[in-house]
Amino acid sequence: MKKKGIKTRSIHDGELKDKTYNGAISPLYLGTVYDYLGEEPMKYPRYFNTPNQLALSKKIASLENCENGLLFGSGIAAIFSTMFSFIQSGDHVVFQSSLYGGTINLIFKEFKKFNIDYTLVESLEPTEYEKAIKENTKIIYVETPSNPLLEIIDLQKIALIAKNHHLISMVDNTFASPINQNPHDFGIDLVVHSATKYLGGHSDILAGVVVSDDLKIKKIIESSINYGGNISELTAWMLERSIKTLPIRVKAQNENALMIAKFLDKNSKVEKVNYPGLKSHPNYDLAKSQMIGFGGMLSFVIKNEGKADLFSKNLKIIKTVGSLGGIESTITCPAKTSHSKVTREKRIKYGISDGLLRFSVGIEDYQDLEEDLNQAFKMI
Ligand SMILES: *Cc1c(COP(=O)(O)O)cnc(C)c1O
Repeated sequence: MKKKGIKTRSIHDGELKDKTYNGAISPLYLGTVYDYLGEEPMKYPRYFNTPNQLALSKKIASLENCENGLLFGSGIAAIFSTMFSFIQSGDHVVFQSSLYGGTINLIFKEFKKFNIDYTLVESLEPTEYEKAIKENTKIIYVETPSNPLLEIIDLQKIALIAKNHHLISMVDNTFASPINQNPHDFGIDLVVHSATKYLGGHSDILAGVVVSDDLKIKKIIESSINYGGNISELTAWMLERSIKTLPIRVKAQNENALMIAKFLDKNSKVEKVNYPGLKSHPNYDLAKSQMIGFGGMLSFVIKNEGKADLFSKNLKIIKTVGSLGGIESTITCPAKTSHSKVTREKRIKYGISDGLLRFSVGIEDYQDLEEDLNQAFKMI
């Protein structure tokens, strides 16, 4: 059967039939207990097999062109449970150095405890990742576009290197969302999302997901029932509702973000704009080849970096809150939030200056966002 379009799949794939009342949406099953004499295996939320979990994982797997998926209580629970299903004491993992702060924290704080070694690659060149592979390497893990500089890594090349060395490739696809990028299409084995961001989209859900082939998902379940990080049924139901509007939300965010990136690029008080959809982006061609849309995330540097705070404070519509991917526009200063624990010297080296602001573009009317930015620029 021909695969349906992404908007149709976002609404209908995986949905549960309401056989009792013929309602239009999936019923919510809050139950934690099910008859063990019935079908095998017994349903239980921590086994990842309750109706609402199964419905939602089918939907997200479909959007990512994967066979199967698993839902977790947070993005980090998905990342931890997935990685630790494939690694053990004595193993080694190759990571991109510019990962989401929480992932970096997980690596720094927990890996040594389990005697797992790692290399952080400070480059976007796939050959550098190949050079970092050791005899005991099990996973290559990247994030593209990256946070907060929107760097782009070649997914196809990373997948190929992993295959050639019999390793597992893993990508955090949170920034792109399944609407803008499908890493599995390029041969990536494991795709994770913080569903707290675009998939949820309304800043009211904490969740995570991994999608892959049936075999790998089975392996992840085996370990994850011991880690206990599954999603709650109510959250799964809310997330299913959210995803029905994911394609139109993300399309609106893509459009607004491109216009804002162009607007900021022309502004004399802005030193630099990082957005993969700008031709000036160092990896614009690569982004164009592996992304369907360029996304709603961008970052920019205020020329007078001492004024970045004042600029943010003066914004009236755009909120200064810590998360991203919501329908509302938000701005954060990475030097003060995600990278506050990194020394200033190191931050500058990584390109995270005090004047850098990360912008998660929402779906408000573009003109209102431009006016909000304009009036805040006038105050600095
Ligand atoms: C937020 C985020 C995470 C972590 O997700 P939580 O839902 O906060 O646990 C992981 N990766 C990226 C890129 C994120 O933005």
